[in-house]
Amino acid sequence: LGGIVKETPMHIVHIAVEMAPIAKVGGLGDVVTSLSRAVQDLNHNVDVVLPKYDCLNLSNVKDFQYHRNYFWGGTEIKVWHGKVEGLSVYFLEPQNAFFHAGCVYGCGNDAQRFGFFCHAALEFLHQNGFHPDVIHCHDWSSAPVAWLSKEQYRHCDLSKAGVVFTIHNLEFGAHFIGKAMEYTDKATTVSPSYSREVAGNPAIAPHLHKFQGIINGIDPDIWDPFNDEFIPVSYTSEYVVEGKKAAKEALQQRLGLRKADLPLLGVISRLTHQKGIHLIKHAISRTLERGGQVVLLGSAPDSSIQNDFVNLANQLHSLHHDRVRLCLVYDEPLSHLIYAGADFILVPSIFEPCGLTQLIAMRYGSVPIVRKTGGLYDTVFDVEHDRDRAQAQGLEPNGFSFDGADALGVDYALNRAISAWYENRHWFNTLCKTVMEQDWSWNRPALDYLELYHAARKSA
Ligand code: ADP
Repeated sequence: LGGIVKETPMHIVHIAVEMAPIAKVGGLGDVVTSLSRAVQDLNHNVDVVLPKYDCLNLSNVKDFQYHRNYFWGGTEIKVWHGKVEGLSVYFLEPQNAFFHAGCVYGCGNDAQRFGFFCHAALEFLHQNGFHPDVIHCHDWSSAPVAWLSKEQYRHCDLSKAGVVFTIHNLEFGAHFIGKAMEYTDKATTVSPSYSREVAGNPAIAPHLHKFQGIINGIDPDIWDPFNDEFIPVSYTSEYVVEGKKAAKEALQQRLGLRKADLPLLGVISRLTHQKGIHLIKHAISRTLERGGQVVLLGSAPDSSIQNDFVNLANQLHSLHHDRVRLCLVYDEPLSHLIYAGADFILVPSIFEPCGLTQLIAMRYGSVPIVRKTGGLYDTVFDVEHDRDRAQAQGLEPNGFSFDGADALGVDYALNRAISAWYENRHWFNTLCKTVMEQDWSWNRPALDYLELYHAARKSA
């Protein structure tokens, strides 16, 4: 395949409203950046078109400069260009101030703002003389690209582009998704299990012939315990025990926890019902009961959930001040230290299209404890129950998992993990090494996307 790839480089344009690390809300932002980098590394040309939010983190944009302007939709649109993680990014800044709202989402008129952005992005490609082979759009927020490119740009070169639409989370804006599914040339979602779980959804069911699940990868350069400025000691799988010990001590020190060799449970999550809030709370108390430490990093978009956690934090911090810390903010650097310093990372989602948290955890040698759903099911193989399923993928079992959505389920997985830590440290350390050596990068999934891009271009 490498040879073919080199002979025929494709031009892929992502139209997206999130991009890590400059405008990231969740996994969608990570995927846009890391998939693009993997595809670019295979010698294809990738551009990303993004709104120029006033809240962009511009310190992570290199060579940021004014590119051009154009008029569309009753306003002037300024276009800026820069490099993010080595990727070429065009930033659209409509002078109607749609993206001067201090946030990515949550402005009340998101559908209108992003609908405008999608059309403006296609107009930019058209006026700039771009002839991409593939236009890749994501979730409800850039779903309009799928139909606008086919309807409004039918008579120009842009219509020769294959359109790929990826559903990162069907829960958001499902009513936009049916129309995009109808018009897009190919559609994906972010894991095979989630693709089966949503196959019956009326937005998707009629289009199964062009729909497939491709697991997300993580970017091994962005998440790299051997080269991570946020952790105290670099480590590879060979020195996983030493590296994680140093990271755990640094984490304990930073958060004012007791510096001791205790099992440490990490949780890094948006705090929404999808993520299994009641299960997270239960796991915190069970871990404390069993003498462990807990660090939770998470924030809730819903203020009543946020308040609820603030109260819980106050309670727990006074009861067990040296064993638990709830950090109710978004803090990327701290997330790195938790991934490295925790023994286990819990992801008890009620549903989970792919989930990146468990993949990042494994990259840092932390053992995932997950609920068996969606991408969590596809990537975490229970040490007792999933040996065959793991081996079918050429893998060793790599974590603890549970069914059900109640305390009993969590306990089943968590208790086994904690017991293994207390009673069988040598085995547990070997497990850390094993998970760290598994490849959850884009190496494999990027090839699946390339195949899909070729197919989309053919069906355009
Ligand atoms: P989702 O996209 O549903 O939020 P994913 O597991 O796909 O879930 O991606 C979550 C990403 O966001 C991970 O990279 C995780 O480390 C990060 N993350 C979540 N909450 C926080 C937080 N409070 N601070 C820093 N990073 C966070």
